Amino acid sequence: MAKDSIAVVDLDRCQPDRCNYECQNYCPPNRTGKECITLRGEDADEGQPEQIRISEEICLGETCGICVEKCPFDAIEIINLPQELQDDPAHRYGENAFSLYGLPAPQEGTVTGILGPNGIGKTTAVRILAGELEPNLGRFEEPPGWDDVLEAYRGTELQDYIADVRDGEVTVARKPQYVDQIPNQFDGNTRELLERTNERDALEYLVERLSIGPVMDQAIDDLSGGELQRVAIAATLARDTDFYFLDEITPYLDIGQRVTAARLIRELAEDDGKSMLVVEHDLAVLDLLADTLHVAYGEPGAYGVITTPKSVRNGINEYLAGYLENENMRIRPNPIEFEEHAPRTVSRADTLVEYPDISKSYGDGEFSLEVEGGRIRQNEVLGIVGPNGIGKSTFAKLLTGDLEPDSGDADLNLDISYKPQYVTIDQHMRVDVFLSSITDQFGSSYWNTEIAQPLQLERIMEQNLSDLSGGERQRVAIAACLSDSADLYLLDEPSAHLDVEQRVQATRAIRRYAEQQDATVLVIDHDIYMIDLLADRLMVFDGEPAVHGRAGTPQSMRGGMNEFLANLEVTFRRDERTSRPRINKPESQLDRQQKREGEYYYA
Ligand code: ADP
Ligand code: ADP
Ligand code: SF4
Repeated sequence: MAKDSIAVVDLDRCQPDRCNYECQNYCPPNRTGKECITLRGEDADEGQPEQIRISEEICLGETCGICVEKCPFDAIEIINLPQELQDDPAHRYGENAFSLYGLPAPQEGTVTGILGPNGIGKTTAVRILAGELEPNLGRFEEPPGWDDVLEAYRGTELQDYIADVRDGEVTVARKPQYVDQIPNQFDGNTRELLERTNERDALEYLVERLSIGPVMDQAIDDLSGGELQRVAIAATLARDTDFYFLDEITPYLDIGQRVTAARLIRELAEDDGKSMLVVEHDLAVLDLLADTLHVAYGEPGAYGVITTPKSVRNGINEYLAGYLENENMRIRPNPIEFEEHAPRTVSRADTLVEYPDISKSYGDGEFSLEVEGGRIRQNEVLGIVGPNGIGKSTFAKLLTGDLEPDSGDADLNLDISYKPQYVTIDQHMRVDVFLSSITDQFGSSYWNTEIAQPLQLERIMEQNLSDLSGGERQRVAIAACLSDSADLYLLDEPSAHLDVEQRVQATRAIRRYAEQQDATVLVIDHDIYMIDLLADRLMVFDGEPAVHGRAGTPQSMRGGMNEFLANLEVTFRRDERTSRPRINKPESQLDRQQKREGEYYYA
């Protein structure tokens, strides 16, 4: 029978040498002589005090939760599983460890998407599908083996696939989530890396479509994040395997590059009949990319559930509504809602700064930027959009005074707090020490509610900056930027490596911060949903990447979106049920009509 509650002990956090086994001393069943919380005897390293284990049979469940409160290191979670979760898990890593319920079902000729937070078991699922991890159906003490697993999945969409995995007949190509780590693993240039993976004879085509040509002879070490991302996508798609798994394709890519990557993945499914599985947190791109969608929910780090497949439209709609219909499961208290029409601009707001036309070029004019003069308003969130390599960071550096303009007086005398696109904080320093050195508000109830909670910092406060994952580092960097006292806050690609739920939370935190602190915030980002939910007005960059850029004056959301999307020739329609923007098929009736009318977004 399925258990109705689980106990998860994070063994990286359980430090019995620094506590007094408070959990055990206060556990009510233990106090009446039962063996609910016991010691892991045989597992302890020599000379080390023993870590704990919790009996899920005896534990009273979430309503007790005394040990969770008593543990000084947040090592314990006691969770009542939703009643709907009757089945055994697909896999459990061990006693009081993470369990995964459900598996995605890759299908030939189909792009299957997974939508959900980090830490919910997506990689675990893929390792199972790749045949690297033998699922134990929750029976970690006596793992059952592939034949029993196959029996458990008989009659499901996964039956044939699992039979192939058992027989060692599935080959897999995989793109990792954090491309920034590739240079640590590969010494050589782009060409050498790509030639190793050229199994389908498609390299030339991929290099051209993804505009990798200019960096073919460059050392992998010297590539920017956006270049690494495109090289990693090309390297994965160049392989000749049955099953392709791509963990996030969008970080550091601009919208044009995102759409191209999505189309290449679709082509491999449609033209070559391959099975594609994609995790993606940019919802507009996921919508364009996938045929079917599994939503993943649960409690990150404790348990995850991967739903049976939904249509992409329903999956994203249900996810945004915060309620999964088939599963009868609420995954978020509040829905995320889009406004059908451009938000009204606050026209009365005072001007924070007015700047003149500015120009700036590098070296012998290899790249030149023309900025049209404009006003940034007090207390607004100004979105900045445009392709990569068009001068957005250059503009930022002109504002901060890090760069001198060739003409135009850009000496704005503003204090600017800046979060760069590539977050480089990785000193050997604890998160709490780092953040408290930035603001004396650190730890106040205001700071905790407005910054620490929405950015989910509590659980990582005691970790070292150098040990953080990409998403954790991003959240700390956003917190650090907003916590500084400044006239203007400038965030470059805050969405990178945040999962979809963290994007929603970060969006809310940035908006509330602007409203409550009378702060002015500039946000450069390529996630169109995030920009839509965040910005009051838009500044659009266009031109020819790496050659010349032009920055328009800040304008209304409607005008800005129209100008920006017209450059890209992409239109959005509205989902009938939720008003969520969805990318139109090129040359569809709506696409042509909206282009004629010049309404690319708020149609
Ligand atoms: P995602 O890909 O959704 O971010 P993962 O599948 O990587 O999630 O991890 C889900 C959970 O499983 C995490 O809490 C992770 O700590 C835990 N986990 C991963 N590998 C192991 C392992 N070998 N032993 C115990 N726990 C693990
Ligand atoms: P974006 O932020 O829009 O991606 P950037 O402002 O970073 O664009 O860069 C615009 C162009 O200027 C790119 O082609 C980049 O290679 C070039 N560039 C940026 N910094 C320098 C520099 N210090 N010297 C020479 N070229 C530079
Ligand atoms: Fe004991 Fe369970 Fe209560 Fe924790 S939640 S104190 S393990 S009964």
